Amino acid sequence: MRRHTTLKIGGPADAYIEARDTNMLVAIVQWCLAEGIPMTTVGGGSNLLVRDGGIRGVVIATRALRNLERVRDNVVVVDAGVSTGKLLSSVTKWELGGLEFLGGVPGSVGGGLVMNAGTYLGEFKDVTTSVRSLRLTDGETVTRTNEECKFVYRGSALPVDEVVLSATLTLWPRPLAEIKEVVAGLRARRKEREPKGANNAGSVFKNPEGDYAGRLIESVGLKGTRVGAAECSPAHANWFVNHGDAKAADMLALVAEAKAKVLAEHGVELVLEWKCIGED
Ligand SMILES: Cc1cc2nc3c(=O)[nH]c(=O)nc-3n(C[C@H](O)[C@H](O)[C@H](O)COP(=O)(O)OP(=O)(O)OC[C@H]3O[C@@H](n4cnc5c(N)ncnc54)[C@H](O)[C@@H]3O)c2cc1C
Repeated sequence: MRRHTTLKIGGPADAYIEARDTNMLVAIVQWCLAEGIPMTTVGGGSNLLVRDGGIRGVVIATRALRNLERVRDNVVVVDAGVSTGKLLSSVTKWELGGLEFLGGVPGSVGGGLVMNAGTYLGEFKDVTTSVRSLRLTDGETVTRTNEECKFVYRGSALPVDEVVLSATLTLWPRPLAEIKEVVAGLRARRKEREPKGANNAGSVFKNPEGDYAGRLIESVGLKGTRVGAAECSPAHANWFVNHGDAKAADMLALVAEAKAKVLAEHGVELVLEWKCIGED
């Protein structure tokens, strides 16, 4: 799985399938259901820590589901596998605003919806009208409204036993130059703050209410700490980076150390933003 995650960490999956379209996806799900084979869904792998034992059963990757259509003036229907970069560049060309917050956020639309990915400029919650998913329990499709998705800060109620297929987004007219300026501002700000060079999966922990995970981790002296090739980045304490051949166990040791020290010194329980999947 290290080939399919931005952290470049993770043991082998028994099988890894990129479904080209919904029909293929439904066929895979029906077959796995009939054979009793477990299924795990991944998108762009930019928020994933896959454990060293890998993943049993079939990993269903949605990154090859790539339709993107402007169906009405301000309304866009986008498949789960479309990258956030492609989505942003397309709506920019169409002079539709609302997705500027995606500037510099990697990953796919499916993962973005599950995570309610966002920045200080906004999040998926703000633009999502509905989400269509395929249930892994019976192979049926379900459509949820924005309210039913129950988007929260870096999360949603989209169930783990469903594959997100597509979403309908409602945007608004905005001149191209204005969108480009806002996105460039966000990208510049990110460039200043984010660690460069090493493999990573963005923020490790969610920010606790009224504080920053990075500030708390830095205050307990973890910046620059290494376990094997895993490091709490000297540039940003809430980014743990892989300098080459780090194991998931190394990253998890850093995660445990950060949690324990922040709890002991600040009484704050850090909550992972990364999704950890697979077996030890
Ligand atoms: C350099 C860098 C910067 C980042 N900056 C930000 C940021 O500013 N803001 C932010 O919010 N995040 C940020 N992230 C984290 C990450 O980009 C987001 O969480 C992103 O939305 C994850 O999308 P993905 O497709 O890569 O999902 P994955 O990492 O593949 O999966 C994430 C979760 O979504 C589920 N999932 C993925 N696709 C589907 C699907 N089709 N159906 C059902 N479940 C699915 C997975 O099972 C998993 O639980 C950053 C990451 C990196 C590497």
